[in-house]
Amino acid sequence: MDKCWIELDKDSDPDVLLKLSGDKTPGFNGGEEEADEASRQLREELIGLQDRLFAEQKHSLLVVLQAMDTGGKDGAIRKVFSGVNPQGVLVARFEAPSKQELARDYLWRVHHKVPAKGEIVVFNRSHYEDVLVVRVNELVPAKTWKKRYAHLRNFEQMLVDEGTTILKFYLHIDAQEQRERLQARLDEPAKNWKFDEHDLEQRKHWKEYMRAFRDAIVQTHQKDAPWFVIPANRKWFRDYAMLTIIVEALRKLDPQFPKPAFDPAAIEVV
Ligand code: AMP
Ligand code: MG
Repeated sequence: MDKCWIELDKDSDPDVLLKLSGDKTPGFNGGEEEADEASRQLREELIGLQDRLFAEQKHSLLVVLQAMDTGGKDGAIRKVFSGVNPQGVLVARFEAPSKQELARDYLWRVHHKVPAKGEIVVFNRSHYEDVLVVRVNELVPAKTWKKRYAHLRNFEQMLVDEGTTILKFYLHIDAQEQRERLQARLDEPAKNWKFDEHDLEQRKHWKEYMRAFRDAIVQTHQKDAPWFVIPANRKWFRDYAMLTIIVEALRKLDPQFPKPAFDPAAIEVV
């Protein structure tokens, strides 16, 4: 598989994401048409793999999606998973925690949404908000969120040890792209409902967010729970890259239809 993502490591510049253009298309030389054709084929393969994953009931897949506001999480879910049997694919959205959720540890609301065997679950935002929005807005003291990287590593390692495959995507748009996408939410009536003034407030903290994402990725990237930084200004590249990575992970799991415990030829339906 050509590496269609950007890798960060512990030595990465604190402002590596601030400097990263969302226009990049790593590992891909073609344009929109070629990407869309490749994505179409990958989606066909995904549909077959998911069918077998669901039938086999042995493995589960957790896809974590994080991005800045307008980063394309909703669009990516729609495009990557269109045509997949909804019976085995669930999306969990994580919004600002409720009073009940805030009264408990931050993983409480997350854990019971993880995929059962045979399922694919997509987290639209996730436990990572607790080291992103929470850090940038100082919703808890630094000494509290700093400890969370270790919790996140251990939590995910436990899920992996118990049979879950984890893929974590950070969809990276740059500040200029976000400006255009927010403006489009004001200009296009069909997009007005998506406009949230809160996003303008958060946008003022762009630099702090880029640092928070960088630290979260670097601190919690593990062999068994990797992060993929996907430049996402170009939606066709974003979808192609996600499909490539998800399909490759499912190919490795190689799910199979279970063999019947009976001889189908020996049974007659009358
Ligand atoms: P949206 O995804 O546009 O529906 O917005 C959901 C909002 O919930 C975003 O502004 C997130 O930053 C916020 N959010 C999600 N998780 C948390 C959290 N753990 N603490 C505070 N805010 C959160
Ligand atoms: Mg929003």
